[in-house]
Amino acid sequence: MAGHGTSSVHPQRFDLVVAGGLLADPLHAAPAPGDLAVRDGRIAAVGAPGTLAGEETLDASGLLVAPGLIDLHTHVYAPGTYLGVPPDEIGVRQGVTTVVDAGSCGSDHWDDFADNVVGPADTRVLSWLNISRHGLVHGRRELSHGPDDIDEAATEKLLRAHPDRVRGLKIRMSASVLGDSGLEPLRAAKRVAGRVGRPVMVHVGNEPPHLGDVLDLLGDGDVVTHAFHGKPGGLFGSEAQARAAVARGVRLDVGHGSASLSFATAERALAAGFTPHTISTDLHHRNVEGPVHSLVETLTKLVALGLTPHEAIRCSTLHAAQVVGMEDELGTLRAGSAADLTLLRPTEGPVTLTDADGATRTGTTRLSAAAVVRAGRPLTVDGAP
Ligand SMILES: [Zn+2]
Repeated sequence: MAGHGTSSVHPQRFDLVVAGGLLADPLHAAPAPGDLAVRDGRIAAVGAPGTLAGEETLDASGLLVAPGLIDLHTHVYAPGTYLGVPPDEIGVRQGVTTVVDAGSCGSDHWDDFADNVVGPADTRVLSWLNISRHGLVHGRRELSHGPDDIDEAATEKLLRAHPDRVRGLKIRMSASVLGDSGLEPLRAAKRVAGRVGRPVMVHVGNEPPHLGDVLDLLGDGDVVTHAFHGKPGGLFGSEAQARAAVARGVRLDVGHGSASLSFATAERALAAGFTPHTISTDLHHRNVEGPVHSLVETLTKLVALGLTPHEAIRCSTLHAAQVVGMEDELGTLRAGSAADLTLLRPTEGPVTLTDADGATRTGTTRLSAAAVVRAGRPLTVDGAP
């Protein structure tokens, strides 16, 4: 059983105390000063500044202490797919403790992905398993060959066999992926996910299929990634269906990517009440040098568009954890949760940011990753002093 704060008669000594920072717990309305203690890889206690003692102290002065960031849309199947990037490069080394691979891997390649990517990584790696058995291993037309692209039984079996890792299904519903397959692959994904009680993450892009027809098939807990792209159609081409979808619990995810975050679309969406539920990157080999760079940079972009840093953090912690059904373990600073933490430095001053279409905006706050703790262990972040 985890510790109970400072109420014990005997002063407790913890493995690690993160001291002097502002605790950014998304369960609260705003960050507040406090210290956080870790024992045996779990958050053991949260207390007033200066009240907790540990074998080791991590100085968080001037920093926001957030739950470990969760990137809900990444491509980390390297070298199994040409666009994969090793998980730690965009994970712990960028201050992100959990990455969810979004369909790089399908049922045919799960064993290889689990052995060679999930197992060795310091970063926690979860999966949206592609409904296409090939994932992205054979290129990017993974649903254009007809019924043979999908093995419903094998996919269901993996969802059931690896519930701790495979948290849902991924499908890309855009013209270039589907060929003549239409909506049927999405119906298959919904059937399989529904049998196991898991959500589906749907990539949307160039139509057909019409976004409204895609949205009409989604339900509570499903995720639309690339929701704020600037291509023809999009949210405002299916606005009534989008409103109805959000009302029944469909979640809008950023999924920045090389072509899928438009500041203009996102500004219009925010003004119209389509708030992003989660902020993710779609990071892969070809966009990590720009325009995406990192999850923390993507949070900075949403802050420039009007979210507070605390709201942006909530999107990539509590909300992301809820999407994958792991909010008891991840996404908050509650005692008993995994001791995955991201320490963020907010820097005030003009910061110019670029979206996927090359448009720029100037924000007033830059977030950067200063330190990370994964399962109770401090790890080095790239570029940190
Ligand atoms: Zn993607």
